[in-house]
Amino acid sequence: MLDHVKDPSELPADEYLSPQELFELHTILVDQANELLDAAQNNLSELTRERDQDADSLDVATSESDRDFSLRLAGRERRMLSKIKYALECISEREYGICESCGEPIGFKRLMVRPVARVCIDCKTQAEQLERGDRAF
Ligand SMILES: [Zn+2]
Repeated sequence: MLDHVKDPSELPADEYLSPQELFELHTILVDQANELLDAAQNNLSELTRERDQDADSLDVATSESDRDFSLRLAGRERRMLSKIKYALECISEREYGICESCGEPIGFKRLMVRPVARVCIDCKTQAEQLERGDRAF
């Protein structure tokens, strides 16, 4: 067994995630990407529809703030989509599921909960503690 070897490049892919596990995670990521794209499209058509209905009464200030709101939504969805794309790239590069911080396998269970995770739960917890520390003025 190669359990003690931590460098993923020295391991065949199935030492940390089996092809079946990778396939499941890949499916989840693609589904999430499609959901985001659908939601983005619905947001857009809803905004357009509302704007059409209210076109006469809409003043410039309202339409400006509507646009800001839709831009923020789109930004958040874009960021999530780019995380998903990155995860999918990692899968095709066979670098998926390895913590970017400590190099340990992230683990199938954590990836099933959060398939775009790029760090293991230990590093994530540490980073969150640091983040909280930075934000406490
Ligand atoms: Zn880690």
